[in-house]
Amino acid sequence: MSYDKNNIFAKILRGEIPCKKVYENDHVLAFHDINPQKKIHVLVIPKGEYVDLNDFNNKASDKEIVEFNKAITHVSNLLGAKEKGYRTLTNIGNDGGQEVPHLHFHIFAGENIGKMVS
Ligand code: AMP
Repeated sequence: MSYDKNNIFAKILRGEIPCKKVYENDHVLAFHDINPQKKIHVLVIPKGEYVDLNDFNNKASDKEIVEFNKAITHVSNLLGAKEKGYRTLTNIGNDGGQEVPHLHFHIFAGENIGKMVS
């Protein structure tokens, strides 16, 4: 699947639509999900154009991959989830339930997240 430059997260990265920003650096942006599924629900996205985790791991530089992974830990710490824990999740493709075709990790925190898959 080729990257769709008009997906909603691409528009957020270009500043065309707003987001509730949690964290940003040269490689990564994190913001609150517009439709939170748990008390805390934040999305972490790379700034590069990657459709999903497979695309990212195939095409991104080692630096981007390291920065993205470190950002997930950093953001979860910013959210106060270090002690009690949290869940990360990324959906890939149709069967994975991916709606937005720009790689994103969900961070769920702030309460017991419950069963892994429902
Ligand atoms: P996924 O199903 O993994 O692709 O998740 C996409 C997520 O993006 C959903 O949890 C949506 O609620 C969220 N989302 C969609 N549009 C926006 C937006 N404009 N700002 C923040 N989150 C959004």
